[in-house]
Amino acid sequence: MSYSKPKFKASYGNFINGKFVEPIDGQYFENKSPIDNTLIAKYPRSQKEDIEMALDAANAAKEAWGNTSVTERATLLNKVADIIEANLEEFALVETCDNGKPIRETLNADVPLSVDHWRYFASCIRAEEGSATELDQNTLSMNIKEPLGVVGQIIPWNFPLLMLSWKLPPALATGNCVVLKPAEQTPSSATLLMEKIADVFPPGVINVVHGFGPEAGKPLASSSKVDKVAFTGETTTGQLIMQYASKNLNPVTMELGGKSPNIFFNSVMDHDDAFLDKAIEGAVLFAFNQGEVCTCPSRILVQEDIYDKFMERVVARTKAIVQTSPYSTDCMVGAQASNDQYEKIQSYIKIGEEEGAKVLCGGDANKEGDLANGFFIQPTILEGHNKMRVFQEEIFGPVVCVTKFKDEAEALEIANDTLYGLGAGVWTRDAHQLYQIPRAIKAGRVWVNCYHAYPAHAPFGGYKKSGFGRETHQMMMSHYRQTKNMLISY
Ligand code: NAD
Repeated sequence: MSYSKPKFKASYGNFINGKFVEPIDGQYFENKSPIDNTLIAKYPRSQKEDIEMALDAANAAKEAWGNTSVTERATLLNKVADIIEANLEEFALVETCDNGKPIRETLNADVPLSVDHWRYFASCIRAEEGSATELDQNTLSMNIKEPLGVVGQIIPWNFPLLMLSWKLPPALATGNCVVLKPAEQTPSSATLLMEKIADVFPPGVINVVHGFGPEAGKPLASSSKVDKVAFTGETTTGQLIMQYASKNLNPVTMELGGKSPNIFFNSVMDHDDAFLDKAIEGAVLFAFNQGEVCTCPSRILVQEDIYDKFMERVVARTKAIVQTSPYSTDCMVGAQASNDQYEKIQSYIKIGEEEGAKVLCGGDANKEGDLANGFFIQPTILEGHNKMRVFQEEIFGPVVCVTKFKDEAEALEIANDTLYGLGAGVWTRDAHQLYQIPRAIKAGRVWVNCYHAYPAHAPFGGYKKSGFGRETHQMMMSHYRQTKNMLISY
């Protein structure tokens, strides 16, 4: 089945104080689809003044919103989930057009998962219990949790609706007002959501302001009118955001880059075809969803005694991946999200070759047929060693680096020899390895005999230069609140 490019208006505004408004100085930027490089629409190129306007609206709304009942907040979060779910196909198409990812991904993962996160935090806030302790017969010590106030949220382009749905629900559920800046490459699904839910929340509770990082993101992260900054993006941008927020001593949460190892022990080859098939899929499919996933298993580590046989299967499976128009439900690897990404990935393939990596498959752009004007890269496997730049730096494309290891100790040494610590995969039939290897990996999420599930009720976040703080899971709510202790004497 095939879909076609959805329709858009010529231009959209920022969503501030419950309505769409033009940028104050009237400047817009053009947003194009990476699938065919055609215009989608114009979006505001916001500046400090637009951010200030949104922050003033959020600050004006925060007291009333912070005093709403948890039941009321939960009801509104559930309403948003219902609205996204009722328009699932429209959201999926807009996301595919804007980001370039296959429609099968947006229909089956991005949008349904987004719905689930809104519902999950609606449930969490209602299920919470407080704490009160009697210190002596006349004194009660009671902790209450209060919203921080106004939160600035800055998100990337790889999962535009899902990142928004990781960020907004816990902040809103805990009684904060938000100013959110989507990535300039993918402003469309956030705008569609604001159109659909314009009347759901009181004006000023959610504000969405578009624009570029240094022009719109920086004034948001450095403003004294925010009480917290939540960021997802590159590690180097995260370092800047921390500097900006530190001026106001504002707390931050950082969800940053990754270079995740996916480790295959020799027991995956032992007499179990179904498990071996699953492991091959685990090596291939999750690595090549454009590679634009922070936990992309971009380093494959294979035990040396199964290396040749295992890699023969991995390469054959990779070559069979269908890369066609992302609007087709057959498409498995879509377009890279932007020309910048497309060029960066190709330059990394060259760097790998110059370093001596061997190209086992792919290695080039894909300009065939419908893909001629888009930013498509063939799924690529580079064979080399872990000291190479292509093994150490985040390429964020459909480029996987493979190497072999001798034993558990060497597997762990290679896996942990990275600046990052976001995700990892371990594939084994050995009971000892099943627990001890994930335990020894320095990463916030380790999948064992599976990869890439993101349930709302499991905490997600990084070690090392992959960030700090946790997203998803109810523990996320603690990042959006402060605790007041009351000592009551009676
Ligand atoms: P990026 O850091 O370039 O941009 C992210 C956001 O920051 C965008 O909205 C951008 O406009 C804004 N920004 C850029 N410069 C800024 C500045 N100086 N001041 C304020 N804001 C600024 O990242 P990207 O290229 O959009 O996203 C890809 C990165 O995101 C990868 O490194 C990926 O691993 C990471 N990521 C991490 C997670 C996670 O949960 N850990 C999830 C998704 C993506």
